[in-house]
Amino acid sequence: METMTYDTAPAAKTPKVGFVSLGCPKALTDSELILTQLSAEGYQTSKTFAGADLVIVNTCGFIDDAVRESLDTIGEALAENGKVIVTGCLGAREGEGGGNLVRQMHPSVLAVTGPHATHEVMTAVHEHLPKPHDPFVDLVPPQGIKLTPRHYAYLKISEGCNHRCTFCIIPSMRGDLVSRPIGDVLTEARKLFESGVKELLVVSQDTSAYGVDVKYRTGFWDGKPVKTRMFDLVRSLGELAQGYGAWVRLHYVYPYPHVDEIISLMADGLCLPYLDVPLQHSHPDVLRRMKRPASGEKNLERIARWRELCPQIVVRSTFIAGFPGETEAEFDHLLEFVREARIDRAGCFAYSPVPGATANELPDAVPDAVREERRARFMAVAEAVSAEKLQQRVGATMQVLVDSAPGLGKKGGIGRSYADAPEIDGVVRLLPPEKISKTMKVGEFTKARVVAAQGHDLLAVPV
Ligand code: SF4
Repeated sequence: METMTYDTAPAAKTPKVGFVSLGCPKALTDSELILTQLSAEGYQTSKTFAGADLVIVNTCGFIDDAVRESLDTIGEALAENGKVIVTGCLGAREGEGGGNLVRQMHPSVLAVTGPHATHEVMTAVHEHLPKPHDPFVDLVPPQGIKLTPRHYAYLKISEGCNHRCTFCIIPSMRGDLVSRPIGDVLTEARKLFESGVKELLVVSQDTSAYGVDVKYRTGFWDGKPVKTRMFDLVRSLGELAQGYGAWVRLHYVYPYPHVDEIISLMADGLCLPYLDVPLQHSHPDVLRRMKRPASGEKNLERIARWRELCPQIVVRSTFIAGFPGETEAEFDHLLEFVREARIDRAGCFAYSPVPGATANELPDAVPDAVREERRARFMAVAEAVSAEKLQQRVGATMQVLVDSAPGLGKKGGIGRSYADAPEIDGVVRLLPPEKISKTMKVGEFTKARVVAAQGHDLLAVPV
């Protein structure tokens, strides 16, 4: 989870909006849209609550900690500033006995919207802080305002989800799947590449479902027809990225049979051989209780097939330990799966009930201590698999995207290979370059020879 405040250069007498962005990459893209619109209309953004004329808080409502953090932030903004607009997932949550949760907890907020609501947020801003007469439209960069470092960016391709996993309340907050028009997505991608982005991270709730809602309608881009379909999108993004020497990385992909086609694009070098597949469990009965999309029984075969099609593929996944009714035998099945599937990067949560999720009504809740203990056992197995796989990279030379390189990288820096997504995976720790004349810059690629594996990270010498 992320907390970000945003600041731009000061100017005289322009209305100032304080902005706090909490939550996942999908919430971050909502924040970027709002900030872009604010900037387009001539508003300034302020780092401090006290220095702003009004504050917008983009909230997260996924787990209890996130709800608490969001409510606390709204409270702080009210105390320090007094004029607060709330948007994001928590804004869509019902409180006890009905009504809006945020309004129940903080009745003095000016307005509350759900996620994906730039227009409503801007309407509330206009009402409480009239827009300046002379909008500085020209000051907005064509790619919009990015909250991520300039060399990587998230690209949201759809909003909402058609599934109804029993532990999740995202569909009740964000609604059913709505795919963005493919022409708009590709146009945004091109602007990002033109602005210097070297790694595009494709995000949504279910990337493999892209276009299902519009029946894979044919759209247009660059004067050519192109289908609103995952394969066509990834191929077009990959071809576009090649022109800018950039990477495309896919997140939140479900293991449907049609994903095999995407693996072939990876093998052809059109997108990174890295797949973020949130599997959550391996046992068919647990998956049924979770109401997970795609057939869980075939996941081992599916992953084996992906490795056949593209041997260098890195698979990242998240799992839940201690889901209601999980038996010791079902949990053992999960441990065996992680070993056999050789998941490169695995994360695990101890099951935590989310208010409003239907899983709360399932019988046989697993005691808290057992959930935690299973999570720890899972991570021990997953980390052993991951460490073994990282060890196999020692001696290899890899392409690394530089994220940090103080003093032109003369004393080393930090980067990531295709196997490391920003913020969730490990990094490549770069030693001083072999050649004294070699320099490194943030957002550029360098080749590096791996000399050791350390925990989740690699140690490498730029060559
Ligand atoms: S696929 Fe399941 S977990 Fe993911 S957003 Fe949809 S309902 Fe939630």
